[in-house]
Amino acid sequence: ADQASATGGDGFLVLRDLTKKFNDTVAVQGVSVGIEQGEFFALLGPSGCGKTTTMRCIAGFEQPTSGHVEIAGRAVAGLSPAQRDTGMVFQNYALFPHYDVFRNVAYGLLMDRLHGGVGRRAGAIGSLLNGRIAHRQAEVRDEVARALEQVDLAGYERRKISQLSGGQQQRVALARALVKQPSVLLMDEPLSNLDRKLRNQMRYTIRDIQQRVGITTIFVTHDQEEAMSMADRIALMRDGKIVQVAKPSELYERPATPWAADFVGTSNLLDGQIAGRSDGVGSRVDVGGLGFRSEDSWDAADKQCKVLIRPEAINVSRAPDNGGSAAGGGTREPNQLLGRVRHVGFLGAIVQYEVETPAGLVLAEHSFGGPSSLMEVGDNVVLGVHPSRVRLLAPEDRP
Ligand code: ATP
Repeated sequence: ADQASATGGDGFLVLRDLTKKFNDTVAVQGVSVGIEQGEFFALLGPSGCGKTTTMRCIAGFEQPTSGHVEIAGRAVAGLSPAQRDTGMVFQNYALFPHYDVFRNVAYGLLMDRLHGGVGRRAGAIGSLLNGRIAHRQAEVRDEVARALEQVDLAGYERRKISQLSGGQQQRVALARALVKQPSVLLMDEPLSNLDRKLRNQMRYTIRDIQQRVGITTIFVTHDQEEAMSMADRIALMRDGKIVQVAKPSELYERPATPWAADFVGTSNLLDGQIAGRSDGVGSRVDVGGLGFRSEDSWDAADKQCKVLIRPEAINVSRAPDNGGSAAGGGTREPNQLLGRVRHVGFLGAIVQYEVETPAGLVLAEHSFGGPSSLMEVGDNVVLGVHPSRVRLLAPEDRP
């Protein structure tokens, strides 16, 4: 408790100004975040943004160049991976295919002593494992059984890894990380080796197990859908820095930057010019010479902005016959655009329309409402959006 107050924890797992350099490469730069006990927290970002390095600094496989990691109120600098009370699931699972489930999970009880050298020195590890199991058999048996129960694989002890499905192997890897009852679970792209359908199923399986065990979890992924569907909160990373930490719906609805908006879902990002305050709350903005209202307020001196409108926020309806020359386009009333359908993408549940408007190409998405509701290429349409779904973002220096 003394140590907790000394380090002034604001979370169960705390990263404070974490920086990691590899020679000239700054892999992680000034990352600070506090993660709550029991939280499922995703590190999301494109390849090379520093997710894995951040995770490895937490696990103790890398030493930060500067900054701190605290786990359960304890500064962990100088502690080995084994002393950090974390369990890790790797992308390739790092299971031993020629051993059975029992041995693979029991190995989790010993793994830390081998400096996290998973996948290496399998022979030496195997003989060590045999020795240990003989030594404390009943205890090990109980601990393995409990971990297998947690991942819904009770009774699978004697099955060989090679005889398991991809999803089952994934759960064995999870059991191996959980068997020591660590206080933090670390998962690095654990679903990327599975085919698409199984990957989607495993999202909820992993989430269920995490909730049941109640374990604080850090989950690394470059897949925004995965992060959104699983996590309580997401840290979106770019070039070694955190761009935004938010709940999935917040990240989607209120992205901090145009880049974040684009990374998380599809977006219409139109060039806008602030025209003043709106009567009630929010702002008036010109987009391609047309007047829009947004509920966002705008305090910046610079009037240039990016106007974000999510495709599903746009209501597409057929233009009335007297709707004016659609070729020229134009405004009807605020937040409405006239346009012409250029492409129709039928995705099953969702229909996408790419619409040519005076403000540029606009993507709209609808749920499929039956064949008669479909527009066709060349149709003249009216696009509408509610001011609450019009976001105003500061432009970025680079794309
Ligand atoms: P990915 O999704 O591709 O795994 P990532 O977001 O996990 O990417 P990191 O693996 O953390 O990113 O890498 C961040 C940056 O640090 C990259 O530029 C990478 O090349 C570099 N890097 C990572 N590990 C090392 C290392 N051991 N030595 C040198 N550079 C490294």
